[in-house]
Amino acid sequence: MIRIALPNKGRLSESARELLERAGLEFDMRERALQASLGPDFTALFVNARDIPEFVADGAADVGITGGDLVAEYGRPLDTLLDLGFGRCRLAVAARDDSGIASIDDVPAGSRVATVFPNLTRRYFESIDRRVTLVPISGAAEIAPHIGLADIIVDLVSTGSTLKVNGLREIATVLDSTALLIGRTDLSADAESGARVRELTGALESVLRAQGQRYLMANVPRSVLADIKRILPGINGPTIIDVMDGGEFVAAHAVVSQRDIYRTIAQLREVGAQGILVTKIERLMP
Ligand code: AMP
Repeated sequence: MIRIALPNKGRLSESARELLERAGLEFDMRERALQASLGPDFTALFVNARDIPEFVADGAADVGITGGDLVAEYGRPLDTLLDLGFGRCRLAVAARDDSGIASIDDVPAGSRVATVFPNLTRRYFESIDRRVTLVPISGAAEIAPHIGLADIIVDLVSTGSTLKVNGLREIATVLDSTALLIGRTDLSADAESGARVRELTGALESVLRAQGQRYLMANVPRSVLADIKRILPGINGPTIIDVMDGGEFVAAHAVVSQRDIYRTIAQLREVGAQGILVTKIERLMP
């Protein structure tokens, strides 16, 4: 049984669960709410996103889904199996709008820095050779510069609107982050576990690859096949199938990027395509 540690709440929990479901793993929540069975090979453990790197490093879970920021902050070696793309944010340095600090060069030595990420913050200021005093906190960093607890903060930002609302200005990026699938470093020591985890990684990868891609089908005149090959590059060129209409038309099928669908349909219609159908793809394994 492979144990997958998943965030029990917060920004990443919904997307992590959705991704596993789209890969074909169904949550059976009849058991205790802190665990769920995920088919015959996997068990999900629902824990705090911040604790997941430790769970996986200690072997309490075999793999986990959590933020790259939390993996980097934890610091101990873990295998990054897959970048999942969601939960995109950055760990940023921010100062009060009225502080006169407009860039990282303006941060005076000896500044107090409030953060939930002491390790990454320490490393960052060491890397730019600036001596600062860390003020480790457990949340709500935005308030720290307004109540005299710190001069600047290092906190997660996605749109920047929370900083703005709190009268803060972003002045530098410490780290870019997305959700990751991580695994314990000794997974491949057991052939069976290694194989199950590779299957899981491949399944999740196939879901991510299918995002933003569409399957397009159209009946096209046989006489314009050269144009069709140009319009529908597909993965290995379009699939062409006979239509039982006496040979005038063939069916062309191809995977097309969603970005290109609008233009592709217009081009297909120009060369006489009919019965155009576009569908979502659940999983894509080249
Ligand atoms: P949460 O459990 O909701 O506090 O957040 C857990 C993780 O969500 C963080 O460690 C980040 O990896 C990710 N995340 C994405 N965007 C943001 C954001 N704007 N603020 C905080 N966390 C974010």
